[in-house]
Amino acid sequence: MARYLGSACVLCRREGEKLYLKGDRCYTNKCAIERRNYPPGPHGQSGSFRRKASDYATQLREKQKARRIYGVLERQFRRYFAEASKSTGVTGAALLQLLELRLDNIVYRLGFATSRKQARQLVLHGHFMVNGAKATVPSFVLKPGAQIAVTEDSRKNAYFQAATKDLARRKPVEWLSFDAASLSGSVLNPPSRQQIDTPLKEQLIVEYYSR
Ligand code: SF4
Repeated sequence: MARYLGSACVLCRREGEKLYLKGDRCYTNKCAIERRNYPPGPHGQSGSFRRKASDYATQLREKQKARRIYGVLERQFRRYFAEASKSTGVTGAALLQLLELRLDNIVYRLGFATSRKQARQLVLHGHFMVNGAKATVPSFVLKPGAQIAVTEDSRKNAYFQAATKDLARRKPVEWLSFDAASLSGSVLNPPSRQQIDTPLKEQLIVEYYSR
């Protein structure tokens, strides 16, 4: 499937805020938002973009922001929304829950990667097993109780050897368990809205798709 291959920082500048798409660099003064906090393009600095946004534009931007944070293409995002709409809970929270339970996001949340993009790469390169079987699909949605572990071969890999010390110091999110010694973790429960720290107003996304 086609993926966005352009600059991640341009996406942040378009949304006018940090989306933390580049891992450690996002926390330094090299961050493009710190240096050039105006929209990309020839008219970015002219101020013409500052006119008051319509409701539709606000909803659209929130949806785009969510897609960019989680690295999901439009068609797939729409499918997540359709699935969330069928759930018995609050649609917006169910949507975020589905996004959080993606394998690439869980690899990121467990601390194996500094960004979701990097986590996606690690998954695609076959470094993880889910419930004992190799898993190479970043969009795979895990269920509560699912076990995730670095494969036996990949544990010898220099990247994971170096990461082990760091991982032992990190505290994973409360809806995941993690064991640094065995480089494995599990999904304790689907995250509640309060347990998801992504700065999104999901109600605007629901309004966007409900038009
Ligand atoms: Fe966004 Fe990170 Fe680039 Fe800053 S460094 S603009 S937060 S991707």
